[in-house]
Amino acid sequence: MSGTSDENQEPVIRLRRQFRGGGIHPWVFRRAIRRPPAGLRDGDEVLIVSADAVPVGRGFYHGESTIAVRILSSDPEERLGAEFLRGRLERAASLRRDVLQLDRQTDAYRVVHAEGDGLSGLVVDRYGDLLVVELFSKGFFLRRDLIREILLDLFPGSRCVFRVEPVAGERERMQLPAPSTAESEDAGEVEIREAKLRFLVSPGGHKTGFFLDQRDNRRRFAALVKGKKVLDAFSYTGGFAIAARTRGKAARVAAVDLDEKAVAQGRRNCRLNRAEIEWTHADAFRYLRNQRHAVEPFDAICVDPPKWALDRKSLDDAERKYLDINTYALRALRRGGVLLTCSCSGLVSEEWFLRILHRAAADAGRSLQVFLVAGAAGDHPVDIHCPESRYLKAVFARAL
Ligand code: SAH
Repeated sequence: MSGTSDENQEPVIRLRRQFRGGGIHPWVFRRAIRRPPAGLRDGDEVLIVSADAVPVGRGFYHGESTIAVRILSSDPEERLGAEFLRGRLERAASLRRDVLQLDRQTDAYRVVHAEGDGLSGLVVDRYGDLLVVELFSKGFFLRRDLIREILLDLFPGSRCVFRVEPVAGERERMQLPAPSTAESEDAGEVEIREAKLRFLVSPGGHKTGFFLDQRDNRRRFAALVKGKKVLDAFSYTGGFAIAARTRGKAARVAAVDLDEKAVAQGRRNCRLNRAEIEWTHADAFRYLRNQRHAVEPFDAICVDPPKWALDRKSLDDAERKYLDINTYALRALRRGGVLLTCSCSGLVSEEWFLRILHRAAADAGRSLQVFLVAGAAGDHPVDIHCPESRYLKAVFARAL
């Protein structure tokens, strides 16, 4: 085999090594492949063959990204056309609707979670009748009309907007047309509901607009705070704070975030839910350090910072930040108080995060009694062959 198969000139990518079976990781790195055939374009469908010429799957190719091929099917016979995509999107929607029954509790959920749904490079979040499609791969970028068509069949009456994060756009050379078109970023603001709570979501904000992955953890946290004095550090638009105050009947809730826009929207979310919350636009490190002098410590604190470990280079810095913020949080918490501390850095493993917490507890002169280590909600499934897709750690503990 010289790079193209005989009968139909289909592009073939050959691995340097023999594939031993047992499930294939969806990312094939550039260093793992032999020289691709000439004329291959970014986003093209390719057949992957093992070093011994055995076909192992199909995916979308990219000539410059470190991930040379994102494998979408481990069946070499399965073409990645319209039928394939419809099948995968239906399968994804069915997990949320039929298995998890999410429509019963919310009109906002992740419809497609990339690798977790066998669609590496594609994320779709649903906010009421707005579908926000985030493209991480050129393969899906080039097929966005088809994606829109299928999604609108699955969610009739919805609107669909596309997003490309600057980093992904640069890596895979993707740029959406100017926002005057139907694919505009200007999707306005939508109101969603989560159980009895209502939130305003701006699709141009963080993530695709809202942290859907924390849905179950907001409920769990709320269940622990009745009558308590609570802090939501890194509160964004107030997800945990509002859940604690209204669902959880916390006595007092403070929320802190460094992003002025998030705080403004958080205040509006409070009005929408008739939730009384003390907002502070500040750096959470500073805010928590200053709490050492507070007369009354918090009974419960939620620490849900942004993704600090973006790549291997930032790991040391990220570790330091996780260590510091958790040490400060523990010092601001009364003995017996509850800490919910999260890390959404896929590069920081659960084991490593727990080790950092162990050090933070020692530095704060406390002990931590962990009673739950949770992750993202079920609409963020994990592909067993891609452990990196299990990114969120949410550790619930009592500080002794
Ligand atoms: N808990 C939120 C999501 C938090 S996302 C929810 O459930 O909706 C992380 C947030 O941390 C972002 O809103 C970001 O603005 C904020 N942030 C980042 N660095 C910060 C800092 N140093 N101090 C306070 N907030 C910060």
